Amino acid sequence: MAGEFELISKYFAKQKLTRGDVELSQGDDCALLISPPGTQIAVSTDSLVAGTHFLENANSKWIGHKALASNISDLAAMGAEPAWVSMAISLPEPDEKWLEGFCEGFFSLADAHNLQLIGGDTTRGPLSITLTIQGFVPIGKALLRSGAQIGDKVFVSGTLGNSHAGLEVILDKEKRLLPNASVLEKSHYCASSRANFGMLLRDKASSCIDISDGLISDIKHIMARSNVGADLHCDKLPVSQELVEFCQDKQTAQNYALKSGEEYELCFTVPQHLIESVRQVAENESVQITEIGEITDSKMLKLFRNNKALQENVAGFDHFRS
Ligand code: ADP
Ligand code: MG
Repeated sequence: MAGEFELISKYFAKQKLTRGDVELSQGDDCALLISPPGTQIAVSTDSLVAGTHFLENANSKWIGHKALASNISDLAAMGAEPAWVSMAISLPEPDEKWLEGFCEGFFSLADAHNLQLIGGDTTRGPLSITLTIQGFVPIGKALLRSGAQIGDKVFVSGTLGNSHAGLEVILDKEKRLLPNASVLEKSHYCASSRANFGMLLRDKASSCIDISDGLISDIKHIMARSNVGADLHCDKLPVSQELVEFCQDKQTAQNYALKSGEEYELCFTVPQHLIESVRQVAENESVQITEIGEITDSKMLKLFRNNKALQENVAGFDHFRS
């Protein structure tokens, strides 16, 4: 059975070092990193715990992807450029087949973002992965949750709702019989984050957040930090064709879009005079963006469908309430 140090050298120390700002990577007590002048370092940590964020028997390649995608998404939401990541992993046993899949998912996404694994910790225990990611943003240019202004328009990237439908497929055998079940299950684990697009929103978006707990929950974070309200038009929420087929109608799909977490799309606000420029950037990047509402002075979240106010109160995800 492989020991701790064999596992580290076989699985975690094999990424080619291509970044000039990593003076010393794994292997010593600390990594030594050089931050570019004129930048701030954006830092974020996310954990994925078996039984809470994924089922123990889920495809390990997808888990490797998802663990990193959720961290990259936090950098994207700040407009930061991914640079370095460290990993604390706890494994019940040294299951090499599991590790091979995990590393395949993790390193293919890391390499695609020129992101270096610079260190970590490997221990035995219940399956869980905690990543700390670091990226650069020019001083003062980070996208914050606190900048939304009354009159700004609210946008989202991509489509929403697939992740929630995928989770239903994972948890409920009967849903596996519905159209597109396996595509949606995969999109729950393999959503991609918007690192490049986030960077391009610097100087354009007034606030930004990534959709990790669900649109309702996440827009409320922008509202609280910016001290504003928002009107959202549910009939405008972008949903995939796969989801509409799974739900059998568009309105149900758009209800999924309101609460679906772990989407890793961006929700951002844009002052009216910058909307055209944001649309241009999105088009150049081939990122679909959709205007879904407006920032208001009401301090409340109001939902509309076909311009009629809705009464229903849809909650987002909260680990200690749901
Ligand atoms: P220490 O005893 O100083 O904490 P370790 O023996 O835990 O060091 O780890 C040895 C080296 O391997 C360190 O440089 C550490 O950063 C790296 N390392 C351990 N686990 C991982 C991992 N899961 N991913 C990346 N690097 C790791
Ligand atoms: Mg250690």
